[in-house]
Amino acid sequence: QAKSEGAGSYAFYTREMTERAREHILLESALRRALEAGELQLHFQPQVDMDDGRPIGCEVLARWHHPELGTVSPARFIPLAEETGLILELGAWVLENACRLAKGWLDRGLDFGRIAVNVSGCQIRHRVICDQVAQALARSGLPPSRLELEVTEGFIMEKAEDAIGILEALRDQGITLAIDDFGTGYSSLVYLKRLPIHCLKIDQSFVRDLPEDREDAAICQAVIALGQALGLETLAEGVETEAQRRFLLQHGCRLGQGYLFSRPLPAEAFEKWLTR
Ligand code: C2E
Ligand code: MG
Ligand code: MG
Ligand code: MG
Repeated sequence: QAKSEGAGSYAFYTREMTERAREHILLESALRRALEAGELQLHFQPQVDMDDGRPIGCEVLARWHHPELGTVSPARFIPLAEETGLILELGAWVLENACRLAKGWLDRGLDFGRIAVNVSGCQIRHRVICDQVAQALARSGLPPSRLELEVTEGFIMEKAEDAIGILEALRDQGITLAIDDFGTGYSSLVYLKRLPIHCLKIDQSFVRDLPEDREDAAICQAVIALGQALGLETLAEGVETEAQRRFLLQHGCRLGQGYLFSRPLPAEAFEKWLTR
């Protein structure tokens, strides 16, 4: 490893960058094929009422099992899909398959509450999201009230006026909307008030060091209070410990998801979890 500045470290960084670029190109074409080859899979992480453990929904999380690379994290392939435009196709695939599986659970009397699907800012910016949602609901027969979309703050605030219009059109289809990773972007309170959302998801970075970290504790309490004042649900992400659960409940956040309740599960395991 290059430790000092100079010619040696320059060579090191260039080689590193070339490798990254090469890897990027390889991954991109692999991801393109993965969609068709069926290497993508959906996992489901339960969302619960933290008071009694009752399931209230599940978050749909994409997984990529590459035959040679193994499991590629969505933290890597989602940004790649966004850069290359593949996210439009990938997003449609996730929506279609999530709705189809959920309709199957309903037909078999499994009550999962709602499914929460992550959507990328690209899907919304390109305005394809309204058609993608309408199509996924129509093809699967899933009632719209069973579908929630998770969107992050960044893109909403970037083009707030446009975003409000698109999110209103989505809400008018009968689905619900959540802001994901709340607190990590730059929400303007003026817009927050106008957005047709019904849930704030408290980012896991604020939950991780609860209850000891005083700043994180204060931020969580403030988000919960904001949610209550605006008449929104708050749901905490990344709940791993009993102490975190207790703190959140005590401060008025009833809904949560995290390893304390369950890891994200493949469809069959999630079905078993529901009937446990
Ligand atoms: P996210 O939407 O904030 O999802 C929550 C992430 O936290 C998931 O990571 C989940 O596995 C992880 N997690 C859940 N509980 C715990 C916990 O108790 N402790 C810790 N440390 N982590 C926990 P994952 O599955 O790796 O997904 C990463 C991100 O990739 C997601 O963050 C989401 O932004 C994105 N993503 C995943 N699937 C999709 C998708 O289908 N479409 C889009 N656009 N983005 C997706
Ligand atoms: Mg999410
Ligand atoms: Mg999140
Ligand atoms: Mg996240």
